[in-house]
Amino acid sequence: MKIGIFGGTFNPPHLGHLAAARAAIEALGLDKLLIIPAAIPPHKELPENTPAPEHRLAMAEKMADALLLPEVAEVSSMELDRAGKSYTSDTLAALREQYPDAELWLLMGTDMFLTLHLWHDPGTILKLAGVCAFGRSEQDTEAVFAPQREHLEKTFTGAKITTITLPGLVNISSTRLRELLGSGEGGKYLYPAVYGYILMNGLYGTRADLKHLDIPELRACSYSMVMQKRVRHIRGTEEEAVRLARRWGADEDHARRAGILHDCTKYLTGEEHLALCERYGVPLDDLERSALKLLHSKTGACIARHVFGEPDEVYEAIFWHTTAKEDMTTLEKILYVADYMEPNRSFEGVERLRELAYTDLDKALLLGVETTIQEMKDRGLPIHKSTLRAQAWLREQAVTTEG
Ligand code: ATP
Repeated sequence: MKIGIFGGTFNPPHLGHLAAARAAIEALGLDKLLIIPAAIPPHKELPENTPAPEHRLAMAEKMADALLLPEVAEVSSMELDRAGKSYTSDTLAALREQYPDAELWLLMGTDMFLTLHLWHDPGTILKLAGVCAFGRSEQDTEAVFAPQREHLEKTFTGAKITTITLPGLVNISSTRLRELLGSGEGGKYLYPAVYGYILMNGLYGTRADLKHLDIPELRACSYSMVMQKRVRHIRGTEEEAVRLARRWGADEDHARRAGILHDCTKYLTGEEHLALCERYGVPLDDLERSALKLLHSKTGACIARHVFGEPDEVYEAIFWHTTAKEDMTTLEKILYVADYMEPNRSFEGVERLRELAYTDLDKALLLGVETTIQEMKDRGLPIHKSTLRAQAWLREQAVTTEG
């Protein structure tokens, strides 16, 4: 097994780190990549506005999730859990014990590679692991790496060193990024979920007014609350909802915001959902209490309203996007239908739903509602009363219109 070890302060993790992680997995053919945030880096002082270790850990986890390789990329808190300075030689010794037969590769950018001989116990480091170095900017050419490689190979017999080129160089450091964030910039150097996490927690002096976010910031916050694999669907729903709003004359901005936020609580636990419903005074029936899928639309609506200051129209659209109900507004219908047939959805009958969505919105809604009812019946699950009411209401409407 080949294991890559990517240590750093990740304060915060940025797109340069992500590009390096991605390239190393590919170039070395890693079976596992361990991202290890340092507790006390031996090489540099942590600046004063460094967030608490649990925030750095959470941001590193978002970076790992961004790779979309859950079997490979993993964050380890081993250095954060260890007292004293975070010496790489200690980390490698612990990993060698944990994985006696694995081939270990230590990943590092130019700055770290060029000073490796000055680290604590470089002999142990180079005995326990190979080193994979990569450039951080256009200037970091082979001419920069070669003398250090020769020096290390000569000094530490048996040292294994390889250099790789990052296909997408991102010339940024966390130091520069912290400065930018403090003055309201820098988002473009961050993976959206990490940026959203920083904004939502007010890290690095960001003072975002969560109730008046621009669309990119709202997206970042929403994505920071979910697993990366859900983001495609959320983006698809946003775009579909905007197209439908244009088609049916609804408010496009409301449709966009409802799409962005509709699934933001999807990964909360049952307990967290119940606590939010309690806090925001959402009454629940027995079925709702026991079904996460039914709860996420209610808690998503609460977060949209109370955290992001969204208006009633957006709140209601998110609130009803799973069960539907009788007599829905155009925006409510749009979010329900967009969620059902956005371009990433594939199930039998989705093409018919896509066609109806743009020709007869009520028929599309009825098809969605009846597809859900059938699916629940097939799975022997109870059907929510609002969904049955939506069906009855829509059927009656269809008879009245056709009659
Ligand atoms: P700081 O500015 O706080 O020193 P940093 O941006 O160098 O932080 P670290 O967390 O210290 O980030 O870096 C972890 C590892 O990632 C190091 O090996 C570093 O060389 C590498 N690295 C940092 N930035 C980049 C980048 N833009 N491209 C490629 N590798 C990078």
